[in-house]
Amino acid sequence: MLLRNNPMDMPTRKTISRRAALRSLGTTGAAIAVLGNRSGAAAEAAPSRGRQTAPSGADARELLEERVRQAPLIDTHEHLFEEKERLDGSVNQRIPCDDWSLLFNHYLNSDLVTCGMPKTDIDRFFSPGVDPAGKWRLLAPHWPAVKNTGYAQAVRISIRELYGVDELSETSVGRVQSGYERMRRPGFYRRILQERAGIESCQVNSLTGEPFKKSDMPAFLMQDLSIVGMFSGPQIQKYAAGTGIEVRSLGDWHRVIEWWFEQYGRYAVAVKSQHAYSRDIDYARVPAEEAEPVFQKVLRKDRVSREERKLLEDHLFWYSVDQATAHGLPVKLHTGYYAGQDGMPLSRLRFNAGSAAELCRLSPGTKFVFMHICYPYYEELLAVAKHWTNAHVDMCWSWIINPVAAKEYLKKHIVTAPINKLLPFGADYMFVEPVLGHAIMARRGVAQALAELVEERWLQLDDALDLVDRMLHGNARAIFQLDRKTEALRRASWARGLPGDRGSGPG
Ligand SMILES: [Zn+2]
Repeated sequence: MLLRNNPMDMPTRKTISRRAALRSLGTTGAAIAVLGNRSGAAAEAAPSRGRQTAPSGADARELLEERVRQAPLIDTHEHLFEEKERLDGSVNQRIPCDDWSLLFNHYLNSDLVTCGMPKTDIDRFFSPGVDPAGKWRLLAPHWPAVKNTGYAQAVRISIRELYGVDELSETSVGRVQSGYERMRRPGFYRRILQERAGIESCQVNSLTGEPFKKSDMPAFLMQDLSIVGMFSGPQIQKYAAGTGIEVRSLGDWHRVIEWWFEQYGRYAVAVKSQHAYSRDIDYARVPAEEAEPVFQKVLRKDRVSREERKLLEDHLFWYSVDQATAHGLPVKLHTGYYAGQDGMPLSRLRFNAGSAAELCRLSPGTKFVFMHICYPYYEELLAVAKHWTNAHVDMCWSWIINPVAAKEYLKKHIVTAPINKLLPFGADYMFVEPVLGHAIMARRGVAQALAELVEERWLQLDDALDLVDRMLHGNARAIFQLDRKTEALRRASWARGLPGDRGSGPG
């Protein structure tokens, strides 16, 4: 109950020094200690804080930083492999090597490509057969060009925090590699995510093929149900196998979709689609009669025109989303910026926010979560969040795409749209190590946004302090009903007998 001793309950700073007040907050590991004791709700249970008379700007900043450091963080978007998959290399097509360069593989590799690193050097950098010094020689000519991007900053912070190395160099890469090996051992997911990053739980959109992943840590690595293959393609083999349903009509396919929600709706934390990588999210409500002939063509593997494909996708998108809504599941949709390089149709992404507004209009009962602040069109998405009751914004990935823009978005959201519709963090990684760097950047950005709003007098310090717990974990617990999910996941058939997955969250 560290948070009960906080300076907000104390007399004004006239009678107590800032340093003393901060000391009473405990160490920077307070949030982690709270999580470690499995009392992550402690922050919420803290007594209502007394009013604070205006301290100086530096004092306010320090108070906010400390409050943000202490608050348990809920991570609403990851693509993390299971820990055992990382350790035994069973998903090796996505894990090209098992050394320190892996931290660069998702997303910093894209900055390396676009700064001009030759493909042959990239391939060698991520290959298993090159020693640390050899990898450094490949990286060194390009490192100065990328080392300050958000993608690189997350990696550098992780390398510093996990391996104790401040600066990559010919002489330090050996220590980075031995640090990598020391860390990458059974239990490292909890050590990094929970103990170091202060993360209470994650929400994973698995990329290893299954629409719903039965995690070994079900209440800690909570999972999204992937719906993209229900309407894109659709991926009949993948989704129908195991359901016992033979798909000969659109009606059969509807039953397959329903099967997934009946089986996993209670365990999934949300549904997720990254379909915006293929087209705009402008899904119209198309009746089954219009979609059926196209679906028959797909079954016969006949050629389907672009217009026909859109018609079928639109129909099935809403069939899946209506199922999600009926099962109380929020609908997470990718918007904005593309991962990778040399392929983003920016002119199309400009329409994402407008299409998001139309989705909100078409289904007022659906809780939409628009991901990645629709970067770079975040001002437009903020207008959607302000106007539509059912629109929520997830800042996942944004702190490393453009940390300054993410901070700007957060400042603007706080003074524009209701705060209960904001999810401030998801690291969006396949590999666990850089999640720590991203989480540290997000906490820094949240504290900065609040402090700047206080300094600019758009926010009172008391109100800024009150926002911290709400943003860092309160909103996610409410939007995704995490108490209920945690209970269901602890009782899940595949979770019985798993060692010690009790999550760290409430309930
Ligand atoms: Zn993602």
